[in-house]
Amino acid sequence: MTLTKVTMNNLRQPAEPKQDVVESAIVELLEIAQRQGITPADFIQLLDSGMRISGFLAAMTTHYCWICGHEVSLETCKIDEHGSAVHEPCLFARMKMETASSRFGASRGFASET
Ligand SMILES: [Zn+2]
Repeated sequence: MTLTKVTMNNLRQPAEPKQDVVESAIVELLEIAQRQGITPADFIQLLDSGMRISGFLAAMTTHYCWICGHEVSLETCKIDEHGSAVHEPCLFARMKMETASSRFGASRGFASET
C-alpha cells in the first residue's frame, strides 16, 4: 500500500477527514466488532445496508447510565427520551422525580399568578 504519499493537493483540503485517522478508526471498529462476534464481512454488510460508522460505533461501544453513572448493558437497558441508554430502575426513578418537580413547579406558578 502507498497510502502514506501526501501531495500538495491533499494538504490544501483541510475539510477532508485525514485518511490515516479514518483508517485507524475503522481498524479500531473492526477490533471492537470482532469482540462482539461480528466479522469484517458482517461489518461491511452493515455499512452497505446504509448503517453509518457513527451509528455502528454508538451501538458497539460501552454505554454508561447517565443517571447513576454505572455501566449499562445494551441488552437490558432502556433508552430515554434523549436516546441515551439508562437502567430501567434509574429511568423510572427519574421519571417519578420529574413528575414530582413539575407538580411543584406548577403549583408555584399558580401561587405567583394570584
Ligand atoms: Zn443507572
